[in-house]
Amino acid sequence: MHNAPEEERGGGDRKAGEMSASRRGRTEEVKNGGDEGEKESLMMELTKMVQTMVKESSWWERRGVDCSILAAAFVCLPPGFLLLGSSRLLCFSVGVLLMGVAHAVITVKGTHLASHGALSESPAWAKFWAVFFIEICSSFSARAGVQGHIKMHHAHTNVVGLGDSSVWKVPLLPRSVYLFVAPLAVPVITPLVALAHLRGHSSALVLRTVVMVTLGLYSQYWLLVNVSGFTSPLSALLCMLVCRAMFCVPYIHVNIFQHIGLPMFSPTHRPKRIYQMTHGVLNLPRNPLLDWIFGHSLINCHVEHHLFPFLSDNMCLKVKPVVSKYLTEKQLPYQEDGYLSRLHLFFHRYQELMVFAPPITELVGVQ
Ligand SMILES: [Zn+2]
Repeated sequence: MHNAPEEERGGGDRKAGEMSASRRGRTEEVKNGGDEGEKESLMMELTKMVQTMVKESSWWERRGVDCSILAAAFVCLPPGFLLLGSSRLLCFSVGVLLMGVAHAVITVKGTHLASHGALSESPAWAKFWAVFFIEICSSFSARAGVQGHIKMHHAHTNVVGLGDSSVWKVPLLPRSVYLFVAPLAVPVITPLVALAHLRGHSSALVLRTVVMVTLGLYSQYWLLVNVSGFTSPLSALLCMLVCRAMFCVPYIHVNIFQHIGLPMFSPTHRPKRIYQMTHGVLNLPRNPLLDWIFGHSLINCHVEHHLFPFLSDNMCLKVKPVVSKYLTEKQLPYQEDGYLSRLHLFFHRYQELMVFAPPITELVGVQ
C-alpha cells in the first residue's frame, strides 16, 4: 500500500489551508460512517478477500497475461518498421497503425505497470523495468514518474494541493484545444518536462536520464532511416510524432475523467483510505481497444487499482467483481461513467472542472 508518510501529508497542510479558504465547501453524508474501528475493518476485510484471491492465482494470472501483452507489442515492432518502408499506401498505413498501437501499449500500459513495480517480484528487476519503460520507451524521468504517480497521485488521491490532478490542468487553453489538439504535442512536451524535473538532482541521475531518453528517441529514428528507408530526416521525425501521438487524446481524457469533478479532500481532514478511493475514483466501462492498450487498471478497474495499486491489470480485472460487490453491500460508492458521457461533461463544464479550483468535500461521519 502506498500510504503517505506523515511528513509528506503535513507538507501540504499550509498551502491547502490557504487555498481552501477561497473554495466553495461541499458536504456529503456517508451512510456507513461508523466508528474508527469499523472504518479500518472495512479496508482490512476487503484486503484479506483480495489477498486470498491473489494467493490462489497462478503466475500467469498475476503477471503472465500482462507481460505477454507487452511482449506482443514488442513483437509488433519489426513488422511495423518493415511495413513503414512499403510504397503501398495500405501497407504503409498498417505500419503506422501497428507502430502507434505498439508504442501506446509499451508507453502507457508498460510504463504504468513498471512505475508500480508490478512487472517483477524482484526489486532490482522492478527498478530496471521502470528505467526501461519510463526513460527509454516513454522519454520521461523514472524518478519524476514514480514520485508523481506513486508518491503523490496514489498516496494523496484527490487531496487538494497534493494529488488533486491539477498537473493536468492548462487553464490558458480553450476547451476544444485542450481536449482535442494539445494532447498531440505530448510526445514533444514529455522529454522537456522530464528535463525540467531533473533540475537540482545529482549529475549521475541527470546523465542517466538524458542518455536513456536520447537512446529511446534515436533508436526509433535510426530504425526508421535504416530499416524503413526514410530518406529525409523531417519525414522520419514526422512519422515518429504521428505514431507517438496516436493515442494521446484518449490518454489525456482518461487521466482527467477518472478523478477531476469527483469529491476533493483537504489534507487536514482527509478521510480513511477506503472512503478516499471510493469517492475520489471512477471507472470507465470496458472498451476492447483501451483495455488492451492502456490496461484495465487505467480504464475499467481504476477503483480497484487505487485500492490495490500493487495488482497487475489482469489481477485488477479478476478482483473487480469481488470489490464492486463488497463496496455495494457496504453502501460505499462504486463510481462508473461512460467515456462519451464524461467527455460531454468536461466539454460543457470545462471552466468549472478544468479552470477554477475544485471545492473541498467534507465526508460527514468519517472524519
Ligand atoms: Zn497507478
